[in-house]
Amino acid sequence: MKEITTNKKKDLISNVDAVHINKKTGLIDNARQCPSPNFDERCSDDDMSLIVIHNISLPPNQYGGQGIDQLFTNTLDKDEHPYYQDIHHLRVSSHIVIRRNGEIVQYVPFHKRAWHAGVSQFLGREVCNDFSIGIEMEGSDFEPFTQQQYDVLNAVIVSLLDTYSSLKAEAITGHEHIAKGRKTDPGPFFEWGQLSEKLDVVLPAKCE
Ligand SMILES: [Zn+2]
Repeated sequence: MKEITTNKKKDLISNVDAVHINKKTGLIDNARQCPSPNFDERCSDDDMSLIVIHNISLPPNQYGGQGIDQLFTNTLDKDEHPYYQDIHHLRVSSHIVIRRNGEIVQYVPFHKRAWHAGVSQFLGREVCNDFSIGIEMEGSDFEPFTQQQYDVLNAVIVSLLDTYSSLKAEAITGHEHIAKGRKTDPGPFFEWGQLSEKLDVVLPAKCE
């Protein structure tokens, strides 16, 4: 991986507060913590070699509500929206969600295994949950994400790469790429060019 110089690092996070990860707890210091019960242990705490980008909005295409917190904490009310009938029973999570305003919400410590990828494959290895970090951008396949989200995402990734040496800037990809034909997120509006340029790598990573 190419070195990210100190100057470049500053540039990446100039619009947002620096993101600091406590390696002992696996938590981001200034994130809102919303612990999910939907996680388990990795085979090894430091088996982390992939970052997976997703999008999510609940109800679909609506932003700012409690739906994501509720889904990831198994408290979604199936009568609140017709779509919830189909998903309220799911036991899923991601490590963090980046809301439209740039707020970071953390559900699972990074060194634990979050349940975000499902059936998936990266470079011949299956079950990407085992070795990946899941980052959800609040959004959809049908409209752009906010610049604040990209700025915060960059800051989070720089901090992840700093904290966990097994992660590489080259190994960042989308849910749609590790679960081809099954998933479509983060979708056509996700600007991989922004990440590629800031991290000086070509993304999304090829998965095959
Ligand atoms: Zn996804």
